[in-house]
Amino acid sequence: MIEDTATTVTFATLNLDPLIVKAVEEEGYTEPTPIQKEAIPHVLAGHDLMAMAQTGTGKTAAFTLPLLQGLLPYASTSASPARHPIRGLILAPTRELAIQVQESVETYSKHLPLRSTVVFGGIDIKTQKPALMKGIEILVATPGRLLDHVESRNLQLNQVQVLILDEADRMLDMGFMPDLKRILALLPKKRQTLLFSATFSNDIKKLAQDFLVDPVTVEIARRNATADLVKQSVYMVDSNSKKDVLAELIRSRGASQVLVFTRTKLMAARLSRLLERDGITAESIHGDKSQQERIKALDAFKEGRITALVATDVAARGLDIDDLPLVVNYELPPNAEDYVHRIGRTGRAGASGEAISLVDAEEERLLLDIEKLVKRQFVREKIDAPQHKSSHAAADSRPGSAPKHASSDRSASAKSESYKSESHKPAPRKSKAIDDWFDKPYEPTPNAIRADAAINATEGSCGLVRNKKSQKEVPALLGGLGQSLLKR
Ligand code: AMP
Repeated sequence: MIEDTATTVTFATLNLDPLIVKAVEEEGYTEPTPIQKEAIPHVLAGHDLMAMAQTGTGKTAAFTLPLLQGLLPYASTSASPARHPIRGLILAPTRELAIQVQESVETYSKHLPLRSTVVFGGIDIKTQKPALMKGIEILVATPGRLLDHVESRNLQLNQVQVLILDEADRMLDMGFMPDLKRILALLPKKRQTLLFSATFSNDIKKLAQDFLVDPVTVEIARRNATADLVKQSVYMVDSNSKKDVLAELIRSRGASQVLVFTRTKLMAARLSRLLERDGITAESIHGDKSQQERIKALDAFKEGRITALVATDVAARGLDIDDLPLVVNYELPPNAEDYVHRIGRTGRAGASGEAISLVDAEEERLLLDIEKLVKRQFVREKIDAPQHKSSHAAADSRPGSAPKHASSDRSASAKSESYKSESHKPAPRKSKAIDDWFDKPYEPTPNAIRADAAINATEGSCGLVRNKKSQKEVPALLGGLGQSLLKR
């Protein structure tokens, strides 16, 4: 048991090398966050760790800083690849998260001769090979692409000393268990394993039992708690009116940045087009978009060039967007736990935020699941469609024209598809459409695909630019959510 010395712990007193401390100080961090205070001593002591922490709590540094510290004795300025075997392996469920983690690794290791790179699917594997061949100590990877590289003999995992599973719950949700098992079989038995997850489901506990040895458990939020700082509202909306209600909501609040969640890729693409037609600048971010396009959309959103970013759960997972004021659940997630992740995009790092769910009658069951999970009952506010109808919305009701609304997916077949997670299913089936352009699934342009390959040709230059941290006081990061528990 470690005593809660919360008031006195600094990065220096955590026994981190001065060059690591220097890097975090340059990021503007003045004090470790609760998860960092809790986890770092255990990781430095060599324990396996099972940590419950959401994105936004500072969990990336919680595992990266002690990883760097542990690998310092192996740091080498030698150019020989043999001197740079992979010693730290970080697995992440999505490419966005993998890229963000790699950026953090690079930031925190900038004063150390330790090399790192990131590999993920969706781009030409050959472009990732040169960085691997040069030799790197730390590899951030999505599971499928890692196995592709193993099969291509681009890397070896037999010297891995530390394995980190980031957002392990999401990896299981996305069906990565078979890949994880294959990867685990390639690693040395004697190693340290750290598992980070936003929730401790029974599946996660089983995963920990199988892959971790006598782990220390660190819990930084109440089980499945939602951020206390986030004001949550539920509006009961007729499914035909959702789009108009959303547009009105954005306009009437003068919202400058809104992250909107949909269940399917098709709906994300459609909704952003609908908002655009309604005069609200919007982009979508989902699994069918090329990496280059996702980066472009995210940057445009972060820089305030677009008002709404419409995202699926998979694409949004792990996004680090500072000071996001408003999240809208255009459709409730099929998995109640995703509600917690979604609203965790706002009210981050001690800031207050707002989450609004637009719920139609068919989603009542999902709402009940969420209420059960977060242990609270929401007031269901009734909201009618705004009087004003946009010209194209009016055109939608032309006799014989296909409805181009959120509700247009409510046919039996489309509905059952929309409940499947993005990662498990092929592109949604087309319904009979009048406006082909409007309804067709997203297709990346050839230019985007080429650019995609180009950005990844350069080691470490993934281009996902995070908002530069200004020198700021350490906020009461989301550890403030609840009691921090420490168990053995
Ligand atoms: P994460 O949970 O790792 O995604 O981190 C969320 C955000 O918190 C990122 O923007 C980090 O740069 C930031 N962060 C991490 N640790 C600290 C710290 N000790 N003080 C201030 N900000 C931090």
